[in-house]
Amino acid sequence: MTLDNTWFSEPQSGSGTAFSLKITAKLHEEQSQFQKIEIYQTEHFGKLMVIDGYIMLTDRDNFIYHEMMSHPVLFSHPNPEKVLIIGGGDCGTLREVLKHDSVKLAQQVDIDERVTRLSEIHFPELCDANNDPRAELHFADGINWVKDAADASYDVIIVDSTDPIGPGEVLFSTEFYKNCHRILTKNGLVVQQSESPLLHLDSILMPMHQRMKAAGNSHTLTFNFPQCVYPSGWWSCTVGGNFDLASFRENDARNKTFNTLYYNSDIHKAATALPEFMKTTV
Ligand code: SAM
Repeated sequence: MTLDNTWFSEPQSGSGTAFSLKITAKLHEEQSQFQKIEIYQTEHFGKLMVIDGYIMLTDRDNFIYHEMMSHPVLFSHPNPEKVLIIGGGDCGTLREVLKHDSVKLAQQVDIDERVTRLSEIHFPELCDANNDPRAELHFADGINWVKDAADASYDVIIVDSTDPIGPGEVLFSTEFYKNCHRILTKNGLVVQQSESPLLHLDSILMPMHQRMKAAGNSHTLTFNFPQCVYPSGWWSCTVGGNFDLASFRENDARNKTFNTLYYNSDIHKAATALPEFMKTTV
């Protein structure tokens, strides 16, 4: 919602809070086949993308989310070659994934082509890697994509979806994770954004661990990171797999051959430290 036309505000009814950004212009608004997409120019955070009233990303802080959705899971896998991104239509996660030389194929499957087309116009730097020969952009429902995919066809699946409402809801279900598990290779890993540990521990984070385990992952691990434009400013992603996820290719991460603004090997380790209230639950 906009407050007096100079602020965009996202109220959180569950926590009685709201996050607001000072805006200078509305650049675009459309109702796509799937969702309402808005783009604003903010005063201090660059451009802002909103889907169905929820903040998706801003120019200023999206690097934290996109790097944490990609690098921890890719440095946890011994040799990630085939990567599937479900959602992620803004292409920021795809760009990070393709920084890894081991990756030979990165397929992005977003239900809504309009998110990508608008990102190409308004967030061109996130789309830098779209023409990489290893990148494939598909516009389809991620739920059906994993249902139809062949067994053992991906090393890493990154679920960069909207919140568990609307077209993103089923992406948080045990059945979806079962299909992810089926289409992953032996050391395969799935990662999904798991919302705010402070606000969504019982409703999303804990059930995600349980459902990933019920789907066949013996190990799950949550990475914490700040994201000031998302509810509470504290966000997370959760990895599922079948080996000890505390171990990762630390040397490779320390000597990474590409630039990041947030991720490094120390952040990797620090992000897995759990506060007391999460220890008994996740
Ligand atoms: N970082 C963001 C967040 O958590 O607010 C997510 C960004 S990304 C733009 C989310 C994408 O998920 C959207 O582009 C949306 O179209 C896509 N999406 C939602 N449901 C989907 C589904 N069932 N299959 C594929 N993509 C889906």
